[in-house]
Amino acid sequence: MSDPDRKTPDFSLIKAVYFDLDDTLCAYWDASKVGLKGAFEAHPIANIPASEMVRHWAAAFREYSPTLKDKGWYDRYLKSGAPTRLEQMRLTLLRAGVDDLSHAERLSDEYMRLRDQALALFPDAWMVLEQLSPKYPLGLITNGPADIQRQEIATLNIGEFFQNVFIEGEMGEGKPHLTVFRRAEKAVGLQPHEILFVGNSYDHDIAPAINAGWRTAWVRRPSDVPPSADPALPAKPKEIQTGQPLPDLIVGELSALLPLLLPG
Ligand SMILES: [Mg+2]
Repeated sequence: MSDPDRKTPDFSLIKAVYFDLDDTLCAYWDASKVGLKGAFEAHPIANIPASEMVRHWAAAFREYSPTLKDKGWYDRYLKSGAPTRLEQMRLTLLRAGVDDLSHAERLSDEYMRLRDQALALFPDAWMVLEQLSPKYPLGLITNGPADIQRQEIATLNIGEFFQNVFIEGEMGEGKPHLTVFRRAEKAVGLQPHEILFVGNSYDHDIAPAINAGWRTAWVRRPSDVPPSADPALPAKPKEIQTGQPLPDLIVGELSALLPLLLPG
């Protein structure tokens, strides 16, 4: 998906690389879809098919997630994914006409278990981290609850690659806040233009990193479609609007970084 009209960027000044985690290094949305389907199959609601329950979940998510930061949920969300995951399931059941907190608990626990079980790195991620880590200090900057993000790093067994790990849940704020990028700069003792950020979200990763003065590589993959995507709307890849800053590089897979970061 890289644009052939754009020039290959010069990354010779890059001295450190930070990565986003979900859907940059690992296929989080895919794991989430596996977890949801499995949970609704394991704990069915009357004779409602799992696929229909997933649609209820998605509709509940679209309504509930924008309120996460302003309804008194955020402090709890930062520490643990459990309270909001349960609330999300409770709202899903209500949409199916079922008011049953203990069933929501079973679904929430099963979803978490199956999602974690299904979570996997993209095929080239391990190789890329293995090749870059002797040459660059690597770091992670990831949004989400502290316990979930730590669990993902453990499940994927990638902790040893990173000298610095910045998690929204542990910092009390996440991307796209500029302070997060400044904190990450300080940790490696480098100037903004000496740091590359690799991420899948234009709004949370790429635009704020450019704004911080960092170099950027935007990872775009066909799998990057959340389970909450509205099936009534056509799947539309994010487009950069006129006037928005452009990343240095757009890649379809992480291995495309290697010739630029490990030349010769
Ligand atoms: Mg991401």
